[in-house]
Amino acid sequence: MKKLALHWKIIIGMVLGIIFGFLMNSVDGGRGFVTDWIAPFGTIFINLLKLIAVPLILASLIKGISDLKDISKIKSMGLRTIGIYIGTTVVAIVIGLSIVNIIKPGEGMPQETIENIKTTYQGNADIMIGKAKVTKEAGPLQALVDIFPSNIFKSFSEPAMLQVIFFALFVGICLLLIPEKKAKPLVDFFDSLNEVVMKMVDLIMLFAPYAVFALMANVIIAFDDTTILVKLLGYAACVVFGLFLMICFYLLLIKVVTKKSPLWFLKEFSPAQLLAFSTSSSAATLPVTMERVEEHLGVDKEVSGFVLPVGATVNMDGTSLYQGIAAVFIMQVIWPEGLTFTNQLVIVGTALLASIGSAAVPSAGMVMLVIVLEAIGFPPELLPIGLALIFAVDRPLDMCRTVVNVTGDATVSMIVAKSLGKLHDNPKPKEWDDNYDKVK
Ligand code: ASP
Repeated sequence: MKKLALHWKIIIGMVLGIIFGFLMNSVDGGRGFVTDWIAPFGTIFINLLKLIAVPLILASLIKGISDLKDISKIKSMGLRTIGIYIGTTVVAIVIGLSIVNIIKPGEGMPQETIENIKTTYQGNADIMIGKAKVTKEAGPLQALVDIFPSNIFKSFSEPAMLQVIFFALFVGICLLLIPEKKAKPLVDFFDSLNEVVMKMVDLIMLFAPYAVFALMANVIIAFDDTTILVKLLGYAACVVFGLFLMICFYLLLIKVVTKKSPLWFLKEFSPAQLLAFSTSSSAATLPVTMERVEEHLGVDKEVSGFVLPVGATVNMDGTSLYQGIAAVFIMQVIWPEGLTFTNQLVIVGTALLASIGSAAVPSAGMVMLVIVLEAIGFPPELLPIGLALIFAVDRPLDMCRTVVNVTGDATVSMIVAKSLGKLHDNPKPKEWDDNYDKVK
């Protein structure tokens, strides 16, 4: 019998997890059962993925840079990557703002609903505002300073992704600058480490269908008030529609720029998208994104090793699209006088920066939304109400925007690879048991 493709197994796990979650929601003690006995398996899976993220970035980036054999190539790859990342993010924000201005989901929301939402979610909103304050209080150049670590082991353990990327780039460039004979042992070491970590991804992914079952069941039991969800359906539909358009935009780019089939792309890349959806974290998904992009989509390690870790941290098109829609939606509901053209332009700029600054973890986009709103002079006393308004639907939207975030990274890596002649046809994916017969 033909083996069922991984993405189907994951989809089945997800659907069963959703059904199981609803079932447990309706029986006495069901939620406690999921929290105590099911959710930990999702946590174990995410922990394993996070565990290999740092060694993976280190190994693939150092190996990739040293393989480039040419420092000017690093510069051109870096500039292209950043340029395209900024371009796709601006497209995402413009799509978001267009949709929310045309559909106007926030107009005519009854006062009673606003009050209702406010009382339910005010506490959660205050937590978000508190987190944003910490980010905002830093000086203007703090984000730059934060890229340069003083203790690389601290960067590994936090983990501070941009610092790890900087360190790997630094090591890679220095390996190019020393005689080849001296560089070889270290390059070989990282090459071997890279192989090992990729094999770890294959093994961890065997567990993915069960893990998404646990993750989805846990998400479902967290939804208690479905009546509020229904009231926010218009807003949520705008975000989902915008994200859908963004995926179409990527598929178009893949077709036109890389001349590859969009369906093939979706088939090969879908396990990473499904994991992004289940974990709400592009950082946790990064190892799988890398494995799929290198082994299934044919992007050379030299490119993916740089473009993907950078993308996971700074390129969040789904998040910025969401921030544009959420900011305008909140204004439509509680601060309509703020809806000026200038404010919308400010949203484009700040949402771009906020998506760069957002951590690749669940809910990060909502924290940074505070900064977007403050930039347009949103009345501080209304801020908790504004965030409370969108809190109820944030988790499902976070899951969807994370899918777009990782798809954007994969698309850009293919475009950059194509432009450098590093996109290969007919890649050969490795399986976990390629070498198993020899050692069993
Ligand atoms: N969860 C998103 C990510 O990790 C960030 C966000 O939009 O909250 O990509």
